[in-house]
Amino acid sequence: MQPFSLCPPQRLRHLRGVLTDIDDTLTAHGEIAPAALASLQALRDAGVPVIAITGRPSGWSEPFALAWPLLAIVAENGAVMLRRDEHGLLQREFSQADERVREANFERLQACAADVLQRVPGACLANDSAGRLTDIAVDHSEFAQLDAIQIAAVCAVMREHGLVATVSSIHINGWIGEHNKLSAAIWAVPALLGEAFDPERWLYIGDSANDQLMFERLPLTVGVANIAQWAPRLQHLPLYVTQAERGEGFAELAQALLRARGSA
Ligand SMILES: [Mg+2]
Repeated sequence: MQPFSLCPPQRLRHLRGVLTDIDDTLTAHGEIAPAALASLQALRDAGVPVIAITGRPSGWSEPFALAWPLLAIVAENGAVMLRRDEHGLLQREFSQADERVREANFERLQACAADVLQRVPGACLANDSAGRLTDIAVDHSEFAQLDAIQIAAVCAVMREHGLVATVSSIHINGWIGEHNKLSAAIWAVPALLGEAFDPERWLYIGDSANDQLMFERLPLTVGVANIAQWAPRLQHLPLYVTQAERGEGFAELAQALLRARGSA
């Protein structure tokens, strides 16, 4: 990872937009940093679309999809897209359009969650579980503390049940289906902007293990400084790392991008 200050302005100038993680990238302890909120507004004012892609549940994300100056939030790791329509009302779309499939998957997920709680001592479901429509989440660092062995055990039970399992900075998420943060971008960009997703023209910024697919597959990726705590356990690192942590790190990116475009 190189310091983000070394990123040449010409790499930022012609970007179509920004894809961002939420937890510990825009927020700290679930609250958006004032600097990050101001940066989202500045990017919107400059005509730079920002799409957030998060492992957080639909229910948790909905108020923010209405309140924050974002084009949309894709929640539950690519399963649910939330946006404000032209009347200011919330629009919710699912990547799995078949409601009967979603209902059957929901039952399987609850059975897996019960099995995790029974078989991994100390495991508890994330506090935001009530708002989850297409996945389950076990808390490892938000309010609970699980060590690396317990985290691996939770992932193993989820995979035994046929779930995809990923580890974010706070939760272990499990879901059914092929969606992920990259498929979220491939789905959301055409749906929101009416054009194909061109990975060359979108920057991704994140902070932890569940951002690795984006770090691997997008040419221009940035980590906020707090990624350092995860770096030894990551297989794929971002190209650049900001000097500041969390929302201040996002603000550092936004300022450089706006400067490169001549809008700041
Ligand atoms: Mg995160």
